[in-house]
Amino acid sequence: MLKDEDRIFQNLYNDKGSDLSSAKERGDWHNTKEILLKGRDWIINEIKNSELRGRGGAGFPTGLKWSFAPKNIGSRPHYLVINADESEPGTCKDRDILRFEPHKLIEGCLIASYSVNAHKCYIYIRGEYFNEGKKLQTAINEAYENNLIGKNASNTGWDLDIYIHYGAGAYICGEETALLESLEGKKGQPRLKPPFPALIGLYGCPTIVNNVETIAVVPTILKKGSKWFSSLGKPKNTGTKIFCISGNVNYPCNVEEEMGASLKYLIEKHAGGVIGGWDNLKAVIPGGSSMPLIPKKICDTLLMDFDSLIEQKSGLGTAGIIVINKDQDIIKCMARIARFYKHESCGQCTPCREGSGWMWRMLERMSKGEASREEVDMLEDVTKQIEGHTICAFGEGSAWPVQGLLRHFKREVTKRNDFNPLINKNRNIPYLVDQHLLEKKDA
Ligand code: SF4
Repeated sequence: MLKDEDRIFQNLYNDKGSDLSSAKERGDWHNTKEILLKGRDWIINEIKNSELRGRGGAGFPTGLKWSFAPKNIGSRPHYLVINADESEPGTCKDRDILRFEPHKLIEGCLIASYSVNAHKCYIYIRGEYFNEGKKLQTAINEAYENNLIGKNASNTGWDLDIYIHYGAGAYICGEETALLESLEGKKGQPRLKPPFPALIGLYGCPTIVNNVETIAVVPTILKKGSKWFSSLGKPKNTGTKIFCISGNVNYPCNVEEEMGASLKYLIEKHAGGVIGGWDNLKAVIPGGSSMPLIPKKICDTLLMDFDSLIEQKSGLGTAGIIVINKDQDIIKCMARIARFYKHESCGQCTPCREGSGWMWRMLERMSKGEASREEVDMLEDVTKQIEGHTICAFGEGSAWPVQGLLRHFKREVTKRNDFNPLINKNRNIPYLVDQHLLEKKDA
């Protein structure tokens, strides 16, 4: 269990105030100048030594990412962009940072901007977080008024301006290059990589894009030391993490715990347990809806960190834990998720645009027992045709939940779709037709 003194987000439940003076009492904006005066090489090395990995889903090492920014400012300005789009279903950790710990984020923005040579920082917030954006803007104004940011920020000689930009509610704008397109005023569609944003990003200039939680933990790491941070969790999976626990639990919550905490402990200790008891657990989606689900027998001993979850063919993602108990129809749950991805595909790549719709329609029919046994294998095949064949990771994000369902519950899916009189009668019906076409043909 994480000790109270090791908790980075002391105001996660807003019991201590989010204004500047309350934030200062918790240690925010202390020694910021001294940290910057140690230089960007020292800062980047400390972050590398801490083994901090991005908290937005991909888990890329933060210090390494910063080191990709050109060492000197050339003819093009550098930018820091904060990804506060947080659209992954089951995830609401950044929301609480934006509204309850905004000064941790702003202080982190100053340190990170300095480290990557950026004088401008954009915070891209999803449009639905209007109230959170207002609270963040209040904190930004406080920081300007107190000379913490702006010209000669915190008396360091470094100038930094921070701007908030609201998105319009598209899931895909959480993908870093789609986010940059959207920030430039274009349609939010991912770019082909390379080139990577660190060299050619916003307006064609070097840009580092980081998640809210990643940047908000940076000041504490530098104040307490990389050794302290890396002593929490386990190697390559260090530090603390905010877990969002939702679904069929008694008390859905956000909680900061040590990386590598046990899933069962998180659910039982912090979320009041599974509704109907632990034995009523069916499966857990461990990292936001795009990660493959994990059945109960693995959940019993599962540890919540990047590498443990990869070993189980899933992922930590955003650490949005969605609990599904036995009262739910697991196929219907996955059909609902597939519908979400079908709706959010940006449409650039055929496998994603068409495949996400295929998966949704097939799962809808499978949930009603109206598909054939062969289609279950075909569904698996469709996921493989999407995975690895698209511009961005959305393709995998839409295919993995379906793969997880088939990996662990294929027998249940097949059983429900084994004796379908409609299909037995009409063996020559194309597999991937819409339900309404099947119904028409039957009539
Ligand atoms: Fe768009 Fe999907 Fe292709 Fe990503 S994978 S670029 S969301 S069509």
